[in-house]
Amino acid sequence: MKTALQGLYPEELQDLCQQAGQPAFRGKQLWQWLQVHHAADWAQMGNLPDSLKNTLAQTHTPGPLTVITESGEPGGARKWLVGLEDGDRIETVLIPARERNTVCVSTQVGCRMGCAFCASAKCGFARGLSAGEIVAQIQLIAAALGKRPDNVVYMGMGEPFDNYDATLKSIRILNHPKGLNIGARRITISTSGIIPGIRRLAGEGLQVELSVSLHAPNTELRRQLMPIENKYPMDDLLRECAAYTATTKRHITFEYTLIQGCNDSLDAAAELAARLRRFPCRVNLIPLSPVEEFTGEAPPRAAMVAFLRVLEKRGVEGTLRDSKGRNVDAACGQLRRRFEGGFTYCNK
Ligand code: SAH
Repeated sequence: MKTALQGLYPEELQDLCQQAGQPAFRGKQLWQWLQVHHAADWAQMGNLPDSLKNTLAQTHTPGPLTVITESGEPGGARKWLVGLEDGDRIETVLIPARERNTVCVSTQVGCRMGCAFCASAKCGFARGLSAGEIVAQIQLIAAALGKRPDNVVYMGMGEPFDNYDATLKSIRILNHPKGLNIGARRITISTSGIIPGIRRLAGEGLQVELSVSLHAPNTELRRQLMPIENKYPMDDLLRECAAYTATTKRHITFEYTLIQGCNDSLDAAAELAARLRRFPCRVNLIPLSPVEEFTGEAPPRAAMVAFLRVLEKRGVEGTLRDSKGRNVDAACGQLRRRFEGGFTYCNK
């Protein structure tokens, strides 16, 4: 497979051009085309010599993504089904809300985490995306919008910390002042709770937002929903989260998908509050989106509000998205409900 050029830093592009016998400034021009003008085709790059393009094209590509379909509602979320060079498929979602455009990106083809209620797990796992394939998703949307998106959430298919290096490189490129220049605070990584990933992120010196998917108030229940609990139990996970907060001075958002009759009792809320009270954190409650192969439903709205009130009364800040999914600072799991037929990337 050819390397996606969107995943290379300016210095790397300059080196590449020099190796191809061209002056370093060609690398700057290339970066401009890719990261500022959202180009995905050699033909757009009028000021680059054909000889350079032909040489680079043997090993690299500016167009790692092919749009297969685009769907969505006017004014609502839009979803791109995207093909990769090797024939795999991923999805990228644009969520316009409150005059802010948020892009939800995939980090892997499929996912290894196997969470009971998540559609991604049902698709198996093929591979992690390269940094270029991740950045190219945002560039694709930027090209469609004609401007850079405001926020990026790593909440599409895959587990970002199961593809750590590519994820972090993509963030540094998105954050680059001479590129899209998306502020780190406008970038959210969501993890199922991979402890070594949280530890590494704490040492990166980046101001990114971190979301941790909890979904249960205790280890017994969490194990039923998330196999990762067996590897990184909740006690250890919360300790690592506390260390992360102490090091970075950044609050963590805990994601909690509400499933009727499973994790939505007021006792569960009280138990969750007791465990999180010491944290400077926020809990984001997400109504379960229906997924094939998982029999479960979102609780009625009143039950979700009651859950939230228990958290708040016990000193834990929480948010509950409205039924239209407008408060989309967090998970895209919600989006599944909004597209007829659910996720289409599943190759099955
Ligand atoms: N692997 C990362 C990113 C996954 S998607 C993680 O686990 O955090 C982002 C969020 O959507 C996660 O909190 C995930 O648990 C949640 N999610 C997945 N499927 C869902 C569903 N059917 N309904 C509601 N939320 C869901």
